[in-house]
Amino acid sequence: MKKLYIETLGCAMNERDSEHIIAELTQKEDFRLTSTMEDADLILINTCSVREKPVQKLFSEIGVFAKKRKEGAKIGVCGCTASHLGEEIIKRAPVVDFVLGARNVSKIRDVLDKKGAVEVDINYDESSFTFGDFRNSLYKAMINISIGCDKQCSFCIVPHTRGKEVAIPADLIIQEARKAAQSGAKEIMLLGQNVNNYNDNGRDFSDLLEMVSEIEEVERIRFTSPHPLHMDDKFLELFANNPKVCKNMHMPLQSGSTKILKEMKRGYTKGWFLDRAFKLREMVPDVRISTDIIVAFPGESEEDFLETMDVIEQVRFEQIFSFKYSPRPLTKAAEFENQIPKEIADRRLSTLQRRHNEILDEITDATKGRVFEVYFEELKSGGRVAGRSDNGFMVMVEGSEELLGKTKEVLIEYPRRTALHGKVID
Ligand code: SF4
Repeated sequence: MKKLYIETLGCAMNERDSEHIIAELTQKEDFRLTSTMEDADLILINTCSVREKPVQKLFSEIGVFAKKRKEGAKIGVCGCTASHLGEEIIKRAPVVDFVLGARNVSKIRDVLDKKGAVEVDINYDESSFTFGDFRNSLYKAMINISIGCDKQCSFCIVPHTRGKEVAIPADLIIQEARKAAQSGAKEIMLLGQNVNNYNDNGRDFSDLLEMVSEIEEVERIRFTSPHPLHMDDKFLELFANNPKVCKNMHMPLQSGSTKILKEMKRGYTKGWFLDRAFKLREMVPDVRISTDIIVAFPGESEEDFLETMDVIEQVRFEQIFSFKYSPRPLTKAAEFENQIPKEIADRRLSTLQRRHNEILDEITDATKGRVFEVYFEELKSGGRVAGRSDNGFMVMVEGSEELLGKTKEVLIEYPRRTALHGKVID
């Protein structure tokens, strides 16, 4: 048997794409997975190009892999950077055997033995393609509900790497969820670039959540990423009232300034975002809200930045993924003239992160002595087991694999920013 080593960068969509690639190669070809790159006959790098750094990292990584690989081992580059750089990758790094775009995962077996193959067509529609069912976790299952994105946010490269938005038929999704849940994955994570824009012949995302929740073996449903623009009342009510839908909402704000949101082409205002966040907090008092924020978008004034800080004060997000704006090729914003100097961007990012850490400390400290229902899914070093509360806190307890796949009540004793530590009481 040949050995496959795969490195996955970026988001949950990429993780799921890697699972699909592994399924194709281990179930339809003669491969098995290895975690040692030096032993592999095929080395795959599943790349991300949402920010600049992972792209730079790709070429240094190819160099390292080329030096350390065993003789004759092939190197393939997949994912979003593969889509946007295409054959440029092989020109810059001729050791690469093939390039496979994020929308072309189902072609992995076609390119395997074709030195120099480049498959990066973003119009290729593989939405009806049924993959094998390899999963990295026995306890939770990621399921794609759509591929691509039609939004064209001015900073984002994804529409150029994953192509037009296509909804995967609801019946296929339900079949996949049922199969995963019956084999032990009680938690289902629905994936898409704009999950709550889902529409399969009139069945919207709320309908889909309802359908998944009707599968008896499914205990928890999560999803990523929803778009604030599509957070209508029907969606928020379903989120609040369906007990299987976990009370952890990702609301990517990006900026708190309506002027900048317009430049970003996000389609909502600061007022709309706050209205949705307040409604959510009112309907689900224990909800955890996470967000993404970009500081120093071109043209962002100090006042615009303060608008973002104001949203942080008002919403008190439980988690923020914050970044300095970085121009991405093929995007509109990369051509904007009023780019923000690095020192200002650095200062804004550290101001935001410092304030958020203060808020986070207050939120974290308030969990001491509370009891959460935790679904355990991963063994950690030092005899600990990790899981998540319904509302998304990472929780750690002492224990063994007996806890995996089970939901237990945990009393929080030592809350930390990165994880809440406690003990199982039931
Ligand atoms: S919604 Fe905007 S940020 Fe999200 S993937 Fe689509 S274009 Fe990118």
